[in-house]
Amino acid sequence: MTAKIEVAALSKSFGDHQVLRSVNMSVGSGEVVALIGPSGSGKSTLLRCLNLLVTPDGGRVRVGGQSLDFGTSSKLPGTASLAKFRAGTGMVFQQFNLFPHKTVLGNVMEGPLTVRRMPRAEAETLARALLGKVGLAEKADQYPARLSGGQKQRVAIARALAMQPEIMLFDEATSALDPELVGEVLNVMRELAAEGMTMVIVTHEIAFAREVADRVVFLRDGVIVEDGPAKQVIDAPQQEATQAFLSHFH
Ligand code: ADP
Ligand code: MG
Repeated sequence: MTAKIEVAALSKSFGDHQVLRSVNMSVGSGEVVALIGPSGSGKSTLLRCLNLLVTPDGGRVRVGGQSLDFGTSSKLPGTASLAKFRAGTGMVFQQFNLFPHKTVLGNVMEGPLTVRRMPRAEAETLARALLGKVGLAEKADQYPARLSGGQKQRVAIARALAMQPEIMLFDEATSALDPELVGEVLNVMRELAAEGMTMVIVTHEIAFAREVADRVVFLRDGVIVEDGPAKQVIDAPQQEATQAFLSHFH
């Protein structure tokens, strides 16, 4: 399997707090990886390093065909190469971050129009197709304030997909939702996984990770403690720290 994402010796500190400690991870094309671990273990930081919302201190990040080295001797990438690098990944956050003054359709069209400079008619066709895919075709003309949290998050997924990324990153995409709205968002993610999208999912939905992910990576204190097939890591974790963490979910 060709690796779509490769992270080597990745490190990141905030002040004197080392949050990522020489992390090595690779994600194959079409693979779904669930990243789990205690709060503060560095999951969001690792995910953010994959699209350079956080600049690593050292190591290498390769996403698709683009690779960047970080460290004392390498200079930071320029704005153009940053933008190109970021275009390879779509990210969905816990907070939906929709534009409140734009309709649902306008939110999904925004990236294609402004970043990709797609003709309006083409952007609208794409946006409507993606809204159909996430089950919100009939909400195209609504404003975000009128939607439920689950609907907002599905719009956020459609918006990320509109940039036609090779990889989708999800950072606790269902953590801010009322329990009865979690399922509709997980269903969209499940569908994307089934279509072969390469995905890295930070989640506390352990049953979902077990079912949908190919691999589970357990991070603690900025170190990958365990990395293996999803069912194996969740049903029979090898490391004591993984066992202790997972015991909270039973
Ligand atoms: P997780 O997502 O696993 O909960 P994070 O990656 O968000 O963990 O955070 C890991 C650690 O890094 C935490 O101690 C957090 O407070 C710290 N941290 C994260 N982002 C910043 C930042 N921008 N500035 C300072 N400290 C940060
Ligand atoms: Mg986090």
